[in-house]
Amino acid sequence: MHGMDAQRIWEFITSGVETIRSNIIDHSIECQYQEKDTLMVATTQRSFKKLTHEHETRLHYNLKSNLHSKDTIQTIINSPYYFGGVSYGNTFSIKAFDYCRAMKQILQKLGVQIYEESPVIAISPQGIKTEAAQVFAQNIIVATDYQLPDLAAFSYDIYHVQTFLMASAPLPPEYAQMLFPERPMMGWDTDLIYHYFRMTEDNRLLLGGADLFATYSPYASGHNPRIFKQLSNYAHTYFPYLPLQWEYMWPGLIGITKDLFPLAGKDKDNPNIYYISGAAGLPWAAALGNYAIEALYDNNNQLDAIFDPYRRFLVPHAIQAVIGTRLAFALSNFGQVGSL
Ligand SMILES: Cc1cc2nc3c(=O)[nH]c(=O)nc-3n(C[C@H](O)[C@H](O)[C@H](O)COP(=O)(O)OP(=O)(O)OC[C@H]3O[C@@H](n4cnc5c(N)ncnc54)[C@H](O)[C@@H]3O)c2cc1C
Repeated sequence: MHGMDAQRIWEFITSGVETIRSNIIDHSIECQYQEKDTLMVATTQRSFKKLTHEHETRLHYNLKSNLHSKDTIQTIINSPYYFGGVSYGNTFSIKAFDYCRAMKQILQKLGVQIYEESPVIAISPQGIKTEAAQVFAQNIIVATDYQLPDLAAFSYDIYHVQTFLMASAPLPPEYAQMLFPERPMMGWDTDLIYHYFRMTEDNRLLLGGADLFATYSPYASGHNPRIFKQLSNYAHTYFPYLPLQWEYMWPGLIGITKDLFPLAGKDKDNPNIYYISGAAGLPWAAALGNYAIEALYDNNNQLDAIFDPYRRFLVPHAIQAVIGTRLAFALSNFGQVGSL
């Protein structure tokens, strides 16, 4: 990818972050909004080199960035095992469920009709169909993430990755300060299937991750003792001083494409139907929501080539039909991560 494209994409993702932030501030939404820097930590010396490169790239594009060496990283995150890290600001954490519920009420007050628990079973250029009703519409945005192939012919191009999140019982406040001695941050590490963590407003440790097998599993596994063990061992190894009691654990599926860029654009035969899938993150999802409106009503097509739903991927459909969807996605995704 050219530097110019990379910069436009970064700005696009950041616009999603700012959309969510301005909604929260403009409507005084209570969703545990907390400004926190983002911190990437290296679990190997080799990955620290990659982070150093990332830091230099950020500086090259005039983006703020702090590099933390093995000697200084412990003043940022209290663990003896990280090889260094990169942090940057202007990011925040929220309780996304509360945010969504508040947005729903705001939209309803504006007259938007919202129907939950009423799955769409078919889409046509005239509108959508549910079990009980048909809705006619001039424009239709289908934003069903990994479930898009249930409604449109993208079964080769959209799959999912599974991740798990665990929440500890609330910790005494001094432990939050012990974990992030300088100020609270949102962390993730450089492992291939990465771990991510932060403290909540009520001082629970949130820790997420998976392993290779579970990540590409065809189904979400509600009860997964293997991942529980892996994640709790991670916390115990990296943050041995935290007296953690795990209270909650849940899985979730995140839509992805083979090149890890989202799929967004108009249906090739019906330009009033617009698909969004594989956003892989709330900033992307928010930015793509805006982009879909601009595409349908203002003909904005600046990033269409990158998001094109009908683009070709490295592993073509014919090979995928032989090696299977899981393998095709795993190979493509790791190839893409390696090339970034
Ligand atoms: C455990 C977990 C942790 C995550 N943590 C983070 C994080 O820390 N930060 C971050 O940025 N992202 C995170 N993500 C990813 C993020 O949640 C998703 O990438 C994002 O929600 C995608 O947004 P979306 O609007 O495209 O799809 P979704 O939020 O998945 O919304 C799609 C909606 O479509 C509905 N739907 C599907 N099929 C139909 C149908 N036929 N008819 C009607 N409705 C339908 C679904 O019910 C769903 O409500 C996490 C995901 C998981 C699972």
